[in-house]
Order: sequence, then structure tokens, then C-alpha cells
Amino acid sequence: MTRKTQILRCLAASLLVCTGTAGAQSLTITNARILDGTGKVIERGSLVVRDGKIVSVAPGAPKSAAGRTIDAGGKTVMPGYVDAHRHVVKGNPNEWLEKSAKGELQEFLDAGFTTVLGAIDPPQLIEARKRIEAGQLQGPRLYIASMIPLAGALPPAPRKPDAIGFDPARTDPARAPLTGPAAPAIPHEQLIKLIDAAKAGGYDYLKTIMNATPGGPEIATLKFIVEEGKKRGMPTITHAVSIRDTLAAVEGGPALLVHTPHIGDLGADPVALKKIVDARIPMTSTLSVFIPHFGPENKPLFRDRLAFPLDTLSSAGQGPVNARQLWDAGQVTYGFGTDTQWAPKETLVDELRGLALVFSPQEIVRILTQDAAKATMHGQEFGTLEAGKLADIVIVKGDPLQNPYDLVNVVTTIKGGKVVFEKRP
Ligand SMILES: [Zn+2]
Repeated sequence: MTRKTQILRCLAASLLVCTGTAGAQSLTITNARILDGTGKVIERGSLVVRDGKIVSVAPGAPKSAAGRTIDAGGKTVMPGYVDAHRHVVKGNPNEWLEKSAKGELQEFLDAGFTTVLGAIDPPQLIEARKRIEAGQLQGPRLYIASMIPLAGALPPAPRKPDAIGFDPARTDPARAPLTGPAAPAIPHEQLIKLIDAAKAGGYDYLKTIMNATPGGPEIATLKFIVEEGKKRGMPTITHAVSIRDTLAAVEGGPALLVHTPHIGDLGADPVALKKIVDARIPMTSTLSVFIPHFGPENKPLFRDRLAFPLDTLSSAGQGPVNARQLWDAGQVTYGFGTDTQWAPKETLVDELRGLALVFSPQEIVRILTQDAAKATMHGQEFGTLEAGKLADIVIVKGDPLQNPYDLVNVVTTIKGGKVVFEKRP
């Protein structure tokens, strides 16, 4: 259907119906190998979607069909992918919105991502979401966080000579021993102003960064933000990259930890492991942030392509090992998150490098779908192929249960029952 006929159809229908369903469709997928996201596999089955929602997932042929029929030809049919920790807007936000948003948001759909959590993004992403909802742009479901500081700034610590460039994940103060002064507290009235501004701006979550200083205000401030966020329906999500800071974050009680701790060994600290797992806070993976990347010079590089300091190299292995320790100790939700601004397909391959070290292909499917959806706090709405859920679906060539890198071979993406990407044969 061309854009013009779509508009004509919209005009023909009542305006209310048209905006309300925003292109939601009915369709039937047959001859599908279904991985439903919960761990269940249907070797040959079918899936029926009505008005953007899944109405049945069952073995064999469908009892009743709806809309267009897609013959999956035995290919794998899965829930749409979710990146629960991204940064979407690049460069100048206004330029991004007017020039790059259209292409880049479509790239998420092409790679199979039907939902993305922008864990700090400027208001231009909220505008992009409005345009998606109005049918002016095509893109994933977007959930967006605004930053709220946990403490006032301390004078900057002297930089190490190899810490060129600035990437907060690499130069994280959590790596340093816990010494120095306490950071100054931010008055509650000031925090309330920031939280109210985030709410008024249309943000969904409050994002905080836990770098606890000795005797500092960070934990108490996080508790305050969490409570104030709850009053406004805004969950708090927290960055913590060391075990020390993850423990501090857990005390504050956020709704999501946006990194796996990769500084420190949870295997050597069973008390910390138990405390983190018992908190039952969802966590996103972001393992690849701390695994070196390589260019033509064959030197370890950070995700921003600058030098990877060798004294931080242990974190490359520690993140995945800690992830497995958490998983086996009963980490309730471990969701896919990448924390990059790279192209979505490149990002997927990159994060699979870390995940595949310690998780089975079946576990990776759950991490990328059901668990990542739960990490966005919208797991009731999507993330699995079950009756009643939104019809966010991908069709994948190959067998991701044999080779997780087959997850890259998305041939069809469906969001809310609407086909939003179809690879030409
Ligand atoms: Zn991030």
C-alpha cells in the first residue's frame, strides 16, 4: 500500500479509528517454527493477529485466519527484539530529528527491534515518538529516560594519561578506590523541579548514575528520587558498573539496573551476589561495552573507537562471568541492553559476542525478548508470543537455537500487527 492510498483509507475511515489503530493490522502467519520467548518451541505452527494483537499461537494450521497470510516457510518466528538500554539520538538533536530520524528509526525495525529504551535522550526523541504514533514516521516503540543527578559535582579527579577522550563508562570513578570527600547533596526542592520538568516533558523514566562517594548523599538521594518518581508514575533506572556501586544502587531501590556489574568478582563475594539477586531488580546486559573492539591496527579499542586502557581489561571477562553468576543465583530478569549509539544490527552482533560467552542460545532468545521487555516494565504488553499481547513479531532465517548469530537474519518485522520491514527475496 502506498502512502497515498494509506492516507485515503485513513480519510475514508473515521479519524478516531484511524489514529487509534495507527496502522494496526490483522494477519495470519503459517508454517512457522515458533519460539514464543518463554522458552517454548512449536516446531510447526501458526499465529493469528487481529487489530494489532495476538489472538492465537498454536501447532498446525490456524483454525480461523485473519487478514493477509504470510507463509513463513518453516522459518523461525519470534517476539520482536527489545533493546532495553540504548542512546538513540546522535549529534545535533534537531538535525537528527529532521535529517536522520527517519532512516535510523527504520534501521531498528530492519534489525528486528520493535522496542527501544532510550536511557537518556533529548526531547527530540519524544517528538520522534509523537511522529511515529501519528503515522508520520515508522519506528520502534520508544520509552525514554531523563537524567536526574544523585549528587552535586566534585572537582574533577586528575585524568590517567591513557584515558584519552571521554566515555563515562570507561573513565568511571567506580574503578578508583573509595577515598576522597563526600559529594555535595542536592536540595530536595531542586530535585523535585527536575523530576517535574521530566514529567512535563513527556519522559517515562528517571535515570540516575550511582557513583557512591564515601559518606556521600547518593543512596539517600536515590531513595528520594525513586519515591518521587513513583508518585508521578515514573520508574527510576540506575547506572552502576562496579559491585560496590550496584550494592549502593540496590539499597536505593530503583526499578531497573541498566548495567551488569563488571568491576569486581561476584564469584568471590557471595554476600554481594545474594544481596543483588534478592533485591529482584531487573538488570540489562550491556556486556559488550566493556569487551574490546578491534580496528585495522589490532589494538584493543573502546566502543567509541578510542584506546581501551589495559588496566580496565579484566572487566571484559568479569562482566559476562558476573552475569552468569547472577543468572544462576536466580537473577529475576536479565534483559538485552547495548548502551550504544551504533547501527542496531551492528549493536546486536556486538552484544551477542558477550552474551554467547556465558548464555545458551535458548537463554539469549529469552534475554532479547521476554526479559528485555520486562526490563522496560512493559512485559505485560509485549516480549512474548502469547494471546493478548501486542503483535510485535520477527521472522528470522536460520536457527537461533543452534546459532545465536542467526538472530541477525531478520527477514520480516511486524509491529502491532503491521508489517514494518520485509526483506526483498
Ligand atoms: Zn547508557
